[in-house]
Amino acid sequence: MSYEMTPTCACCAPAPLRSGQGLNRRGFLNFGAAGVAGTALATLSAGKSMAASGHYEAMLVNCIDPRFTTLSWQYMGLIQGVSRDKLEDNYSHFVMAGGPIGAVHPKFAAWHATYFDNLDVTVSLHHIKRVIAVSHRDCGAAKLAFGADAVSDKGKETEAHSEALSMFRQAVNKRHPKLSVITGIMDTNGRVDLVG
Ligand SMILES: [Zn+2]
Repeated sequence: MSYEMTPTCACCAPAPLRSGQGLNRRGFLNFGAAGVAGTALATLSAGKSMAASGHYEAMLVNCIDPRFTTLSWQYMGLIQGVSRDKLEDNYSHFVMAGGPIGAVHPKFAAWHATYFDNLDVTVSLHHIKRVIAVSHRDCGAAKLAFGADAVSDKGKETEAHSEALSMFRQAVNKRHPKLSVITGIMDTNGRVDLVG
């Protein structure tokens, strides 16, 4: 048995396989897709030179809910920075179930240190000036934290989230008094109500 017979990726394949010999159609297509992705990534990063440490604008903390991936990215494009106009590629991003609710609610106590340790790192490494904490409507993690009845209509949901976001703001202020904190609830259409 030879490991050369079972390459784990196209770039590690022995020379005969790189030319396509011995690859089935699926393998060939996979190689093609990897090549296209690599080209797209190279194009996206062309001309940009980012430092791992330096002076950046903000940290976004929000929920793992897949419905808000693009909406949160779009929202960050609308927010003005403290010292620069645009936040594009200018903020760190911490994602956890419930977002800021997960960072402070007792139901998720085991996660709190992880969030605040990461906040400490982005403050010392990226010198961020602002934390943008966004929970969202119809959040499964919020239902786990507060109980389904406590978020059963929009008014109750706003009240419960506001309390947690206020706790989040106080916890950040206590640890890093110089940071400004924006807190809000994102609707499923991407609109953010600033509360907390
Ligand atoms: Zn959620």
